[in-house]
Amino acid sequence: HADIAMYRAKKLGRNNFQFFTPSMNDEAMERVRIEGALRNALERDEFVLHYQPQVDMKTGQIVGMEALIRWNHPELGMVPPGRFVGVAEETGLIVPIGAWVMRTACAQNKAWQVAGYPRLRVAVNLSARQFGAANLMASLEATLQETGLDAACLEIELTESLFMSDVTPAVELLHRMKALGVNLSIDDFGTGYSSFSYLSRFPIDVLKIDRSFVADITHDANDAAIVSSIIALAHNLKLAVIAEGVETLAQLDYLRSHGCDEMQGYYFSKPVPADQFEALLAEGRCLPAPTLSPAPETL
Ligand code: C2E
Ligand code: MG
Ligand code: MG
Ligand code: MG
Repeated sequence: HADIAMYRAKKLGRNNFQFFTPSMNDEAMERVRIEGALRNALERDEFVLHYQPQVDMKTGQIVGMEALIRWNHPELGMVPPGRFVGVAEETGLIVPIGAWVMRTACAQNKAWQVAGYPRLRVAVNLSARQFGAANLMASLEATLQETGLDAACLEIELTESLFMSDVTPAVELLHRMKALGVNLSIDDFGTGYSSFSYLSRFPIDVLKIDRSFVADITHDANDAAIVSSIIALAHNLKLAVIAEGVETLAQLDYLRSHGCDEMQGYYFSKPVPADQFEALLAEGRCLPAPTLSPAPETL
């Protein structure tokens, strides 16, 4: 039956992603398969990081990158994180996997710095489960020590869910992480439980505007208002702000005219393997100069 499922998977999966039909049985089966295979994936060296550039709005230069995990499974193909990160979190496997991500991303960033791109920043996603793991600080310190990466060049992406539950240990841990010198950002900002009180109580550096808001800023006046308000909120709190999921010049123009600091999205580049990222760095790719792009339409 596994063979049949796999055959169907291959027929169905345009991107190798949709490897089972969506019926309940197959979903359950997929989960079991994923979980089983996930347990061996680290030792089999099946994970890979892709990197998506983060671009300064003013200069058009790449100033950083987000490291995004993919699972290169021999039969399932390239599995996107949406398919396995949840399972990894539930099983706790995200702790060793996340440590691998952190080490690999820091080592890669350091290598690029040494190769002639100093001060590049790397952002790494941290799941709540990792945040709760006892060895987080030790693992983080060891990674910075072993890779030689300046902590100021590491950004750790947290989600609002982290602030929903038991808040007291969280704020302590965040201060300990800050004391190492790393930057902290809130990923997918605005989609979770946004209590503004945590923004003033927690040592956050960056807000990342979720791409669901960015998607319609040029068509939906409400989304446009939300995005410009998040930018203003961030700046009033002395935080930097980065927009995710920027796909068009019109979105870019809106964000730039409202003072958004950085952007990340397909308009500039999809997440790419390390060698392709290096090519982007070497190209010194720039955005169109601010004066060349038309003024954003008023909404
Ligand atoms: P995220 O951290 O919010 O990452 C941004 C996601 O948006 C990435 O999806 C990226 O490929 C996608 N994206 C970027 N620009 C655009 C755009 O212009 N248009 C559209 N439609 N999408 C865009 P990806 O790589 O599939 O990752 C999905 C999620 O999986 C991430 O969301 C993050 O929550 C999680 N994830 C990825 N890598 C890791 C990891 O190493 N550890 C943990 N804990 N979670 C990870
Ligand atoms: Mg992220
Ligand atoms: Mg995000
Ligand atoms: Mg997201």
